[in-house]
Amino acid sequence: MPAPIIEAVREQARNTLRTVFGYDDFRPGQAEVIEAVLAGRDCLVLMPTGGGKSLCYQVPALIRPGTAVVVSPLIALMQDQVAALRQLGVAASFLNSTVSWHEQADITRQLAEGRLDLLYLAPERLLQEETLRILDRADVALFAIDEAHCVSQWGHDFRQDYLGLDVLAERFPGVPRMALTATADARTRTEIVNRLRLRKPARFVRGFDRPNIRYSVRIKSNANDQLLAFMDEHRGQPGIVYCLSRRKTETTAAALRDAGHDALPYHAGMPGGDRARNQRRFLRDDGVVIVATIAFGMGIDKPDVRFVAHVDLPKSIEAYYQETGRAGRDGEHADAWMIYGLQDVVRVRQLVDQGEASEQQKRIERSKLDTLLGWCEVTECRRAALLRYFGDEEPSAGEREGAPLARREADPCGNCDICLDPPKTYDGTVEAQKLMSCIVRTGQYFGAGHVIDVLRGKDTPKVQQHRHDKLSTFGIGSDIGATQWRSLLRQLIAGGFVLADAARFGALRLTQAARPLLRGETTLTLREDAVANRARERSARKSRDDGFEITPQDEALWEALRECRLHLADDASVPPYVVFHDATLKEFVRLRPQSRTAMVAVHGVGQAKLDRYADAFLEVIAAHARPH
Ligand code: ADP
Ligand code: ZN
Repeated sequence: MPAPIIEAVREQARNTLRTVFGYDDFRPGQAEVIEAVLAGRDCLVLMPTGGGKSLCYQVPALIRPGTAVVVSPLIALMQDQVAALRQLGVAASFLNSTVSWHEQADITRQLAEGRLDLLYLAPERLLQEETLRILDRADVALFAIDEAHCVSQWGHDFRQDYLGLDVLAERFPGVPRMALTATADARTRTEIVNRLRLRKPARFVRGFDRPNIRYSVRIKSNANDQLLAFMDEHRGQPGIVYCLSRRKTETTAAALRDAGHDALPYHAGMPGGDRARNQRRFLRDDGVVIVATIAFGMGIDKPDVRFVAHVDLPKSIEAYYQETGRAGRDGEHADAWMIYGLQDVVRVRQLVDQGEASEQQKRIERSKLDTLLGWCEVTECRRAALLRYFGDEEPSAGEREGAPLARREADPCGNCDICLDPPKTYDGTVEAQKLMSCIVRTGQYFGAGHVIDVLRGKDTPKVQQHRHDKLSTFGIGSDIGATQWRSLLRQLIAGGFVLADAARFGALRLTQAARPLLRGETTLTLREDAVANRARERSARKSRDDGFEITPQDEALWEALRECRLHLADDASVPPYVVFHDATLKEFVRLRPQSRTAMVAVHGVGQAKLDRYADAFLEVIAAHARPH
């Protein structure tokens, strides 16, 4: 595009951002994507969760003539987005199985008459011949294919219906198509482009950094106590606690309720009605904690989730990143907190090994788990390690033209457990050799408990039975406690030196990687397990930079604003954050706007929301005027 036109397009996009969405600036990457779509190009957009992908198609939807068709696999997400858009005065609708025949006819008519800005559809719905024919006759502004990684058979979210979406290429040749996702390595990105048949797409690969999320991983000692201590710091805040089993979600939620938290369980085995009710309370009410299996979260775009806690290991780094990505989408401080121990390592491995996946699939899952374990045990900045994992791979051909890639040389971030409280490390080579020799001497046949007993020279029936007190390694590790040996073993497993063979009840076995270590050709740096120090944790937490804090003098206004928001949200049957985000309410407290003009200048206040809500909030602010 010639420069003056680009300038005009930019101005138009910025205008829409301001008047409709009430935001002053685009987030990194958004403007470039929008320009490409407005120029009619296909796009591949990879942005971290919370990065603001939706705006990348919503703004062009409002600028390009016709209706933007958004393909999303998640019905709950569709409903939320449409509700939020309508609040902004945008003509948006969705078609899915929950829509009555009557409404459908209505939507079809609006579409034909060009009165819809955005139409959300599930892929299977879009691919019905009837839908395609309706779209043939309509004026389609663009196709946005959300969660585009679902097209990848290698990915963890493969959906058969996505494979059919390539029909759009020939059926709507003049319409730009956007593929958007938050999780896709280089191979998946290429797969998306090929399978969707994007034409010379502009590629935008944004960094994965979520600077407002603080990552911390703790060694599990007493899971319940640890969780309660962590939750004490987050009293009254909305959050998600992930567990592996359904039963555990129930017991954990009960324990949290006993401790005074508004906690609810969520898992696939619950009656549908209860599940929907709990999810609804999480979205609608203030400060609800959901204790869930990983069944929960796909399509939850509640922006003010203040923490995601894992009391069990996730399946992979990707899964972990996706699950923790649900925290802090509003850009405010949020915690990603996890505890794990040796037991979990063995258990998750067992789940993989005994699963029904093919041998090849299991191999992939095992190696993903190993990577995750390695990450748990890092001794340098956790964020840097995470970014390296996602950013390390070379960009595939043609990707250099888009927005710049994630920073490569990640500096220590200052906002993870390791940066805030660096673990002590020690040279664990000799101990590792002792432990591994003991595994070999006992025939690579026993689990952690027995091997450690032999190391420590314990006289147990099992030792007697196998005459392991006669071994050269019997008692060579008596100077170290069992807990420390378990820590060492966990790190050896995480480092890929030792395997816990699930098929043989957790029997320990050495890997190829163990050899050079055993022969003393390499050394091994290990970390001392930090003993939880709550005082230290608390002071670290206090020192974080949260931006504007509500002072005691402002407390009354803050609460009144929240109250007002809750009423308005109830009246409109939307979650409170759809009315205004916390950040906007904080601005109201800070700036105390006295007029509509002053209010529309506040971040997050667009024209439609001004018309709808200004009076109510101005009244609250006036009622809390500061005495002069
Ligand atoms: P994603 O789909 O990438 O996870 P969303 O599109 O849901 O992220 O955006 C996350 C949050 O950021 C939303 O609440 C959205 O309103 C907000 N947001 C997006 N773009 C901007 C912007 N330019 N300025 C301020 N807030 C924004
Ligand atoms: Zn760090």
